[in-house]
Amino acid sequence: MIKIAFFDAKDYDRDSFIRANEAGKYDIRYLETKLSKDTCRLAEGCDVVCVFVNDDVNGAVIDELVQMNVKLIALRCAGYNNVDIEHAYERIHIVRVPAYSPYAVAEHAMALLLTSIRRIHKSYIRTRDFNFSLNGLTGFDLHGKTVGVVGTGKIGRVFIDICRGFGMNVIAYDKFPAQDSQIEYVSVDELWERSDIISFHCPLTDENHHIVNKDSIAKMKKGVVLINTSRGGLIDTESLVEGIKERKIGAACLDVYEEESNVFFHDYSGHIVDDDTLARLISMPNVIVTSHQAFLTNEALSNIAETTLSNIEEFFSLGYCQNEVCYKCPKVGGCPQGHNGKCF
Ligand code: NAD
Repeated sequence: MIKIAFFDAKDYDRDSFIRANEAGKYDIRYLETKLSKDTCRLAEGCDVVCVFVNDDVNGAVIDELVQMNVKLIALRCAGYNNVDIEHAYERIHIVRVPAYSPYAVAEHAMALLLTSIRRIHKSYIRTRDFNFSLNGLTGFDLHGKTVGVVGTGKIGRVFIDICRGFGMNVIAYDKFPAQDSQIEYVSVDELWERSDIISFHCPLTDENHHIVNKDSIAKMKKGVVLINTSRGGLIDTESLVEGIKERKIGAACLDVYEEESNVFFHDYSGHIVDDDTLARLISMPNVIVTSHQAFLTNEALSNIAETTLSNIEEFFSLGYCQNEVCYKCPKVGGCPQGHNGKCF
């Protein structure tokens, strides 16, 4: 039976994986700790490690897993910026869940936007205290506003459709614009200049790390609303805080944060949080932070569990998997994604 060390396991993960593994095909060892150099020994005797967005799969971790004869790293997410994939090359295979519900993430982005600009987070607290005054709750219409979408893949496209339903004008920037898509693509600078709202739906890469910085913020409209449901590293948080303090940025809706890995997914309600930047952001009335929860719907969780287990099954029965991230091409049959050794 294939043995899986399941790191950073939460109750909702367990529930969905227990359901997907109803037939008992896999022996899953649920571990609450995240994968790191200090914890990877917990995978001793397992064939697979299953990880999420904040597990640190660096070169040293990969070496140790290989040494323990772990054969596969199964990401139960789409993004893989937390994995040293170049180091994994020719050492270990990596599979991921490329899509589980673009609707979950795109709908959360819109939920954050509406909450922020209609001040729902404020009015919810007020009315619970029987304060029915409206002062300070004035919002603005989305209809007729321009939204700039960075990244027009699966999630970006759904977000664009939602925005069009609100009567918004959509412009977009993508490194690889979609052909014949009826999307108005512009340069990244034009997107900063024209957008009332900017939403990020691209992967984090070396190239776009801190794409939101002092210089790009200077090019944006006064009062711009930023939504980030993609990856925290896209935004230089210090520049964001300055932009908000200078009243240049009107609001920020953040489901991700560049230093989230030691904070998000944990309950620190009884503690003093050490991260001053995060504490400053959370103290601002025009900032909403959710803790990387955009993916968290029933539909997405069951798709994640089913795809992760079918990736593992495919890998062990065929020796490769369609959802492989790693660039260790199989000896027989070539790259299933057609990359043919040209991944780097
Ligand atoms: P996708 O691969 O379908 O689309 C990504 C798009 O970004 C593609 O069109 C690609 O061409 C474009 N792109 C790549 N590099 C770019 C760059 N440097 N600048 C601009 N565009 C670039 O991915 P997706 O399924 O739409 O997911 C997008 C991102 O959302 C993921 O990479 C992940 O970081 C994030 N995500 C977050 C959550 C969450 O819970 N918050 C859940 C799932 C995904």
